[in-house]
Parts: sequence; C-alpha cells; structure tokens
Amino acid sequence: MARHVQPRSRPSSRLSANLVIFGVAAGAAAAFQTSAGASTSTSAPSSDAGLLSASMTGAYAGVGGDVDKPKLLALRPPAHDGDVAQLAKSLRMTEQREAETAARLLAEREAEERRKIKVFAPTEGTLTSAYGPRWGGTHYGLDVANRIGTPIRSVMDGVVIDAGPASGFGLWVRIRHVDGTVAVYGHINSYAVREGQQVGAGQVIAEVGNRGNSTGPHLHFELWDQAGRKADPLAWLRSFGVRI
Ligand SMILES: [Zn+2]
Repeated sequence: MARHVQPRSRPSSRLSANLVIFGVAAGAAAAFQTSAGASTSTSAPSSDAGLLSASMTGAYAGVGGDVDKPKLLALRPPAHDGDVAQLAKSLRMTEQREAETAARLLAEREAEERRKIKVFAPTEGTLTSAYGPRWGGTHYGLDVANRIGTPIRSVMDGVVIDAGPASGFGLWVRIRHVDGTVAVYGHINSYAVREGQQVGAGQVIAEVGNRGNSTGPHLHFELWDQAGRKADPLAWLRSFGVRI
C-alpha cells in the first residue's frame, strides 16, 4: 500500500515548477499593477502578465522537455577521420573548379569585349618575318610582303603622329590608337595622311614600298604598347580576332 502514496516524481514536479513560475510572473504583474496604479494609467496589464507567464513556462519546457533527436543526429560528427578528409578534399576540388570556371568566364568576356573593337589587318600579303629573334638580333615587327602599291590600312581608330621620312624605314607612318598603343608602318612607298589627322580603323593610310633598309617590297609593321615597349603584333592582332 506504500505504492499508492509514492509521489509521481517528474510530471508533478514539472507542474509545480510551472506553477511557481506562473506565481513569479503573477507577482511581477501585481508589482507592475501597483506601480501603474501609482501613475495616471489604469489600463489593465493582465495581458502582459499572461504573455510573461506563457513565455517563461515555454522556456522551462524547453530546458527540461524532450530532446530533439533528429537535430542531434544531424549535429553528430562523422564516424571516421577518413570522412573528414574526404569532405575537405571534395570541398577543395569544388572551390578549385569554381575558381577555374570564373577565370575562364572572365577571359571569354575580355576576348568578347576586344572583338567588339574594330581592328583591321594592316595589309594583305605573305608573312615573311615574324616578331622575335632574327639574324642574331631582334626583329620588332611583322614583315608582310606584297607588290608595291598594295593598300596599307590603319589597324584601329587613332591619330597620325608621324608621316614622312624615317631612318631605316625610308618613309613611315605612326598612328596612336584610341587605346594608347602606337602602330608603325615602315618601308612604305607613299602615304595618304598627315600628322595630326584622325583616322578610322581600316582607312587606307599608305601603300607598300621598298624604301629604306629593305630587301624587297613589304610592309614592316610594329606595335608599341602604352609604355612604349614593342609588342608582338601578330599576338596583338590575334587577341582582337584578326589574322594575317
Ligand atoms: Zn621588318
């Protein structure tokens, strides 16, 4: 018969704790009511007291209530160190792939932007000498051989900065482009522009000749970057989608 008087421990203790908390809340509400009574306001604070007791009871239930098992399982660490290493490796590979994709997209967009700029081949003919080492020195341009009188065109919009005689080149035309690069057209037979003149991409500015230090009719074409360094004209033209 002692079994009948044994207290049901958990439910009753939780119930009593709830009651205690509600009691505290009610006390607080009473205290609030007292101070409110002292002021001019007489509006009932009972709804606030109700909220307070409800939230406090909820907080209690959270602490002592049932554990959220699925959440704990999700937080459980991987079973083996090998899992962690595998996860880290797969993350690294994902990051690397994303970086490669971003770099490729950037390069493609830059190439697309460059193709929007109007660029022409300087002339037509046979490429007889490229940019690079030649005869123990360096050849700083392209040689494109063709008969005398073949039209030479400005490769890009720009302004003529030289048109006339030049040592070694016989006659030359130099054009500063809108992007700051400078093109040199050498050994020309004649020119059709004057210094300071604006020219458009593809505009005929001169014709192929055999003047100066030249071994046959051809255009010597150089490209100087914005810093004045001589660049490979073929690579520069190719970057704009232009081939000779
Ligand atoms: Zn040359």
